[in-house]
Order: sequence, then structure tokens, then C-alpha cells
Amino acid sequence: MSHGFDTLAVHAGQDPDPRTGSVIPPIYQTSTYAQDAVGAPRLGYEYSRSANPTRDALQETLAAIEGGRHGLAFASGLAAEDTILRALLKPGDHVVIPGDAYGGTYRLFARVHQEWGVQVTPAKGPDIAAMRNAAQVNTKMVWVETPTNPLLNITDLSGAAQLARDLGALLVVDNTFASPYLQQPLAHGADIVVHSTTKYLGGHSDVIGGGLIVDDDELAERLRFHQNAMGAVNGPFDAWLTARGIKTLGVRMDRHCDNAERIADFLVHHKKVRQVYYPGLSDHPGHETAAKQMRRFGGMVSFRTDDAERVCNSTELFILAESLGGVESLIEHPGRMTHASVAGSPLEVSGDLVRLSVGIETVDDLLADLDRALS
Ligand SMILES: *Cc1c(COP(=O)(O)O)cnc(C)c1O
Repeated sequence: MSHGFDTLAVHAGQDPDPRTGSVIPPIYQTSTYAQDAVGAPRLGYEYSRSANPTRDALQETLAAIEGGRHGLAFASGLAAEDTILRALLKPGDHVVIPGDAYGGTYRLFARVHQEWGVQVTPAKGPDIAAMRNAAQVNTKMVWVETPTNPLLNITDLSGAAQLARDLGALLVVDNTFASPYLQQPLAHGADIVVHSTTKYLGGHSDVIGGGLIVDDDELAERLRFHQNAMGAVNGPFDAWLTARGIKTLGVRMDRHCDNAERIADFLVHHKKVRQVYYPGLSDHPGHETAAKQMRRFGGMVSFRTDDAERVCNSTELFILAESLGGVESLIEHPGRMTHASVAGSPLEVSGDLVRLSVGIETVDDLLADLDRALS
């Protein structure tokens, strides 16, 4: 029987504990497991780096909400990304990455994996033609973020899947900004979906984590081997917090989207604001593609204003902080905060940009806060 998204978010992998009836699966805070005889672990559990029931529960939830067959959970989004790169690339392989990827993703490619002989080319734009131009004969992976961070650029997922197939490469999609409630890349032909579960999936700014979701058994096996061999797994309590967050993902995302739509509209009409980046706006270059592949347009809004730093320092409800996707609204200056590590690179962000992670508060309070900060 197939279930709707919100049913899966609440129930998949989250059956009541068979021994006690505990409605919420317990936190198995253990490093190791008693064995009944040498080589005879009771339920297959031997050591918590290799497998832990709380992490297993989360992995099942992750797979279900992305519509994939296999989920893997990690200590952070970057740990998940690093595991993909180590498991599937070797020196001499080439990757096409987005022109405005998450700064930490770019740093992982440019400062860590390039040192080990993996070649990387940022595409000159979010469109498929730009990505095709960045490809080489040795391209083994196409990496896509949509919407991107911080400019909310949109890449056509079906087009990217076709490009990857033409190149004989794997398509990896970082789905952190959209969340699986708004967009499911595997259905558009992606091979691997990556999440920083720190953001919308956890949803409460209280836990760092990462996830990978794949459909293909052999790919899952290779990633699972590296998950254990590299050991960048999350602990049981972090896995439990993330699973708890996911249960309300759909409800939260609808409110994030409602509030972000109102705020984007407010900013468009504000005289101190030069440009607004939100894929829900009809003049956003990716609007039509976003409308085709996303349920709604998400909770992230960026804009340009002369006094960007002062605005970031002046809000009261919007908390000045990095990260995104929590219930509370955040404001930040990408040039000097989240994207400081890409200064001087092709991914450098202009100094007049402000990024908002719009939370689920009463929208009139958020609008009043921004109005005050901009005046
Ligand atoms: C935060 C983020 C990451 C990295 O995840 P961590 O959990 O911070 O390691 C990767 N991609 C995107 C789009 C992000 O926003």
C-alpha cells in the first residue's frame, strides 16, 4: 500500500517498540551489543559504527520520504558528501559542480578532494547548457543543487539527469534547500540525493546531520561500505532528534512557504531593496522550472540592499546566524558569513546580499521586523 508524504514522515521506520510498546522508538545509546555465542549477534547488531537501531530507524524514514529504497545517515551533511566522493571517485575523475554551490561543498571539492587528484569545474550558470560546457571526457559525476545557496538558482532536474546519462556520469542532487516535501530528485532521474539534515529535516536548529538516499542496490552497497569504513556516522541521540523533526516536515514546510511568499512580495515593493531572489516570483529566471519540479517554492529568500550589513545587524526577531531551515527566522550576510570561505573564488558572493531563512512565526511580526531594519 502506498501512503502520502505526511503519513510516511510520521510512520516510516518509526514503528512502536515491539518489546515494550513504546510509541516512539527508543534511543539505543550503546556502542556495542551482547552476542549469544561467538559470531552470533542477536539481531545482527555488533557495533554502533556499523549499525545502530536508532540510526536504522532514521535511515528507513529518510529513504521513504525521498521515495528511494536505501537511506544512509551521517554525522553532518559534509560527512555524507565526503562519503560519496571517496566511495565513487578516484584520482583523475572530473566533476561538474554548480556555479554557486553551498560554500562548504565547494571547499570540500576545491580544498580537500582536488588535493587528491579529483578535478572540479564550476558551471557558469544553473542551466543545462552551462553544465554541459563545464563537462569533460573524464566527467564521472554531475553535482546539482536546486535551489542554490544563496542565489536560489534553479536547475532543471530531468535535464540534468539526461546530461549525466549522456556523459555516462552519476547525477548527485543536494536537496537540502527544497526538502523532500517540495521536491524529490530520484523521481526526476537523480542517482543520489544528499541532505544536510541539519536544516529542514531536523528543523529545530538543535542537531547536525547528513543523509544520502539512493534507489540502486549496488550503489547503496558501496556507500554503506564506506559509511562503515570511514565511520562518519551520527550518534543515536542525533539520529533520534532528526527523526523527530521529520515527522512535522510537511506541516512546517507549508508555513515556511506561506511566510516566504509574503516576505518576498514585501521586499519586491520596498524602495531600499534592489533585487529579490525567490523562485516563487514570476520574474525569477528559474520560476517555470521550479513550478514544474517543486510542490512550492521554499522558505529561503535573498535580496540586495545598499546597507546589507547594517540590515543584518538590525533585526530583532530574525536572529543573525548561519544555517537555515529551523522554525525560527534567521538573517545572515553570505559574503562575510556562510560564503566567506569562497571569497576570491569563482563562487564569491557580492557584499550587498542578505539571505533570510524564513521561519514559521506569525508573518506580520516578521514583516514588521524587516521593515524596521530596512528603514
Ligand atoms: C548546510 C549545507 C550543507 C552542509 O551540511 P552540514 O550539515 O553543515 O555539514 C550542504 N549543502 C547545503 C545546501 C547546505 O545548506
